Amino acid sequence: MSKDSRKSSGSMIIISGPSGVGKSTICKQILKQMDNVYLSISVTTRPKKKGEQDGVDYFFLTREDFSKQIKAGNFLEYAEVFGNLYGTPKDKINEMLEKGKIVLLEIDFQGAEQVKELYPNAKTIFILPPEHKELENRITGRGRDDEKDITNRLAGAGREIAESMYFDYKVVNDKLEKAVEEILKIINK
Ligand code: ADP
Ligand code: 5GP
Repeated sequence: MSKDSRKSSGSMIIISGPSGVGKSTICKQILKQMDNVYLSISVTTRPKKKGEQDGVDYFFLTREDFSKQIKAGNFLEYAEVFGNLYGTPKDKINEMLEKGKIVLLEIDFQGAEQVKELYPNAKTIFILPPEHKELENRITGRGRDDEKDITNRLAGAGREIAESMYFDYKVVNDKLEKAVEEILKIINK
């Protein structure tokens, strides 16, 4: 990533948090309630799950093709999460920032750290569950993941939450509307 690409009129918001905490739900609400926001679509090697669409939820790639994209320098950041690779495509981000958009990234803490290096003015927001048990209820209730994936995601939650100390803001997603309102205030600050 060349440092020049940081010179732009838009701004960057990073949303992270443990699986099932409500990141995607919150991002969708932000898109509904704010103009001028671009939500980045990540690339992943994880298999597509029930209800997901290629090019909408993620761009689904094989590991081989993902590696080619890494070599071509096409990612702003990428990381291995729960045994699969996830990355943010660079091209759209630069275009949207140049257009003055608020770019929203829903990525894990490793990606957040990489992006913060490149864009020190990016606001990093970590979403927390009201309590651990609620995380389990939400992951299970979503009905998207199999048992192995649920176990992996819940096992990783503690480590992810420990990383929240490096984030600029922490927001508890208890009542959805309240969490969204809090995040909109942070974005508009
Ligand atoms: P993530 O993107 O963090 O993995 P999702 O946005 O997919 O999480 O949310 C996981 C589940 O929790 C979904 O079924 C969603 O509808 C639900 N959910 C999100 N926010 C709340 C909330 N504040 N209260 C109750 N359920 C929620
Ligand atoms: P899921 O498989 O549940 O959709 O996502 C698993 C994890 O990958 C979540 O913590 C999510 O934030 C993270 N993730 C999704 N896209 C990206 C990305 O482009 N980069 C990074 N670093 N993490 C991502």
